[in-house]
Amino acid sequence: MLTTKPRGTNDILPEEVYKWQYLEDVVRKVANLYGYKEIRTPVFEHTELFRRGVGETTDIVEKEMYTFQDKSERSLTLRPEGTASTVRAFLEDKLYAKHLPVKLYYMGAMFRYDRPQAGRYRQFHQFGVEVFGAIDPSLDAEIIAMAMDIYDHLGLENLEVELNSVGCPHCRNSHREVLQEYLKEKVQDLCGTCQGRFNKNPLRILDCKNGRCRDLVADAPTIGDMLCDECNKHFQKVKEYLDEMKIPYKLNPGLVRGLDYYTKTAFEIVARGIGAQGSIGGGGRYDNLIEDCGGSSMPGIGFALGLERVLLTMEQQKVLIPRLEQMGVFIVTLGEAAQKVAASMAQKLRKDGITVEFDYMGRSLKAQLKSANRGNFPYVVILGEEEIKKGVAILRKMEESSQEEVALQDIVSLIVKEYKGGKNNE
Ligand code: AMP
Repeated sequence: MLTTKPRGTNDILPEEVYKWQYLEDVVRKVANLYGYKEIRTPVFEHTELFRRGVGETTDIVEKEMYTFQDKSERSLTLRPEGTASTVRAFLEDKLYAKHLPVKLYYMGAMFRYDRPQAGRYRQFHQFGVEVFGAIDPSLDAEIIAMAMDIYDHLGLENLEVELNSVGCPHCRNSHREVLQEYLKEKVQDLCGTCQGRFNKNPLRILDCKNGRCRDLVADAPTIGDMLCDECNKHFQKVKEYLDEMKIPYKLNPGLVRGLDYYTKTAFEIVARGIGAQGSIGGGGRYDNLIEDCGGSSMPGIGFALGLERVLLTMEQQKVLIPRLEQMGVFIVTLGEAAQKVAASMAQKLRKDGITVEFDYMGRSLKAQLKSANRGNFPYVVILGEEEIKKGVAILRKMEESSQEEVALQDIVSLIVKEYKGGKNNE
């Protein structure tokens, strides 16, 4: 137990963290291009927020939440997604009083008690955006375009946008009736959870992960056939904008998404070939959520992508991820006098923004040089007892395989000059 992490969680190790930093960097840059500002909300919220926001009959609320009582017996839940918290903050912090629409993005860990497998974890990370206060269909299309832009910046290919409209409560009522009629004879064959959903929220049955339920609803009537005029018009416009922007999409009338709050546009972005968990992002419009969470009637739309799945897809598509970290100087020291000189030299170099590393372990010259090589340092400074006595240091430029003796008082400025003028600073 003590040396085992909880099931469905991951350590991100130092040798792979550069991939995460790169990915986080790219999504932040693209979010900025589209005018989104970051919001950071707590990792846990009152359970009621997700019950109301995500929906009582969703898989997330029925089966997947990490809910606990704190010492004052409040029921709290680790956030399973980011939209409900963002809406809560929008209302609580009165962001609606600012210029509308409000465009926010978030990034962080989410928690769902799901069955772990490749691409599906109990703690995973999402980047998401939310826009509050605008109903225009061009925005639905722009959010899809932005999602595709992020994947494009990351060098991903072979992605497909799956698109649907899940209508408004009005269309859903009509759909609910025909769906119940269709499922009437099949109820006893559905899984236990879906039997409960039959009366409460039959639309959710279309989203069940159980194989048997999936088979039973394969030919069920879809919401697309029941859209009201307004939802239909909105959907047509979204498609027109996507066509205008030359963003290909595939209509998927069965797409309902796993959260109750969606209205009208719903979409998912699917990567082929990363296994069963192919959805690398998804989102949609939620024109009633803000009101359901206690705000005034105001439309909203959002999108979230799973960072783990994006990285898996990048790996699978063999996208080269650049290492952003810069290596600077490795100082090899022999003897205590040299170590002292090295300590002050290192501080001066670091003040100038240059990374400096040591051995710390009292190893031999040969072993220290090996460490320097392993760390890919472009410069190595060697300070032995002889050098200290002479008031010099040996400066090795690893790329040129050259070395020279430099006076101790000149070495810092020389390295700074070389480093800043050289290609290490590109
Ligand atoms: P959702 O919030 O369910 O709409 O999911 C949005 C995105 O988050 C999905 O497209 C996935 O990329 C990612 N995601 C959702 N659940 C998980 C999970 N359990 N593990 C890893 N990624 C996930």
